[in-house]
Amino acid sequence: MKILVINCGSSSVKYQLIQMDGPEVLASGLVERIGEPEGAITHKKHPGQPDEWEIELTLRMDTHTAGLTKVVELLCDPKEGVISKASDIAAVGHRVLHGGEQLYKPSLVNEEVIKIIEDNIPLGPLHNPPNLQGILVAQKLFEGIPQVAIFDTAFHQTMPPEAFMYALPYDLYTDRKVRKYGFHGTSHKYVAAQTAKQLGKPLDELNAITVHLGNGSSMAAVKNGKCFDTTMGLTPLAGLVMGTRCGDVDPAIVSVAAEHYNLDFAQVDDLMNRQSGFKGVCGLNDMRDIHAAIAKGDKRAKLALNMFVHRIKLYLGGYYALLGRVDAVVFTAGIGENDSISRRLICSEMEHFGLEIDQERNDARSREARFISKDGSKTAILVIPTNEELEIANQTVEVLHAESLI
Ligand code: AMP
Repeated sequence: MKILVINCGSSSVKYQLIQMDGPEVLASGLVERIGEPEGAITHKKHPGQPDEWEIELTLRMDTHTAGLTKVVELLCDPKEGVISKASDIAAVGHRVLHGGEQLYKPSLVNEEVIKIIEDNIPLGPLHNPPNLQGILVAQKLFEGIPQVAIFDTAFHQTMPPEAFMYALPYDLYTDRKVRKYGFHGTSHKYVAAQTAKQLGKPLDELNAITVHLGNGSSMAAVKNGKCFDTTMGLTPLAGLVMGTRCGDVDPAIVSVAAEHYNLDFAQVDDLMNRQSGFKGVCGLNDMRDIHAAIAKGDKRAKLALNMFVHRIKLYLGGYYALLGRVDAVVFTAGIGENDSISRRLICSEMEHFGLEIDQERNDARSREARFISKDGSKTAILVIPTNEELEIANQTVEVLHAESLI
């Protein structure tokens, strides 16, 4: 069975076609700069395999429909394609940011699901519209093929009220559903399940802190296999210091920034989402560039890294306090999987918590799930490559089973 996973952004589409027995990635790619004069598609066939094949196309794509139509052409190409026709795909799994409190379980897309995603645009103004667009386009291109929505918030729905409520007038919760939702749920869920496997423990007995560090970063306190708290909030702006997002700040700063730069609320939101984080502090938003700048003596870059580490340590300590027993701290995503320097700094002087990193294991490069703690460390430290696409595909298959579609 083949599942196509789609993650639609405002001007981009990430996709992966997965053969579920295996599982094996048949093709993957990225459509970029939709709506701009020069768009691009990078399409890989059998990524990561010895027979990998890649094509980079530059073309104008005015709409998501144009971009996805080209993707279907590439997937079905008579010479280099991996399927012969669109209907060879069993289902399309869509990453969707926000279904609010109404909808978080993986769901077969129907009119009601579409309406809920639409109704929750105020909670996910940057992501929900393109996510919805992706669903509508895929419904046309893959006519009659089930579409499944997988929500980024799902894993965090088990948080208790004391974790998800904000200390604001209660009406904001009852009238506007203002509460913590949490994001990167698919990644935290996948990584927690893999951690249980690595530790040889049933998932429902696992206490872990999952640390997803990428362009967007978040952490989750996982208690008995379920999310107990997480760092992102109503939107993905809260919590850790990120590439371009500020994470936690004193809320009074919103009006100070508005006054200082003469901005309205939407512009302050943009400032905090796109012009802050590492970029705001040192002008760079990519961790590799930050390390390169530090090596050249850039003090602001060093400050950005120190702030990133400091905030993660604060949450690590907090989550130890919430969980009591922590079986594992697990790093994932671009920085978490690749950056041994960040991991070393985050785990330094944590021995009193029972967290002891092994420098040699930490420095060894690998794409596999691995332990980087010393033998005998009370809390295991692991690096587990996240695989959100596979998790979305698995959940899509579960929905097909539940709906008796396979
Ligand atoms: P993601 O959003 O998961 O793709 O992660 C993107 C982040 O991972 C960027 O800040 C990259 O600089 C960072 N990253 C990717 N590879 C490396 C690496 N080898 N060393 C340090 N950071 C990396």
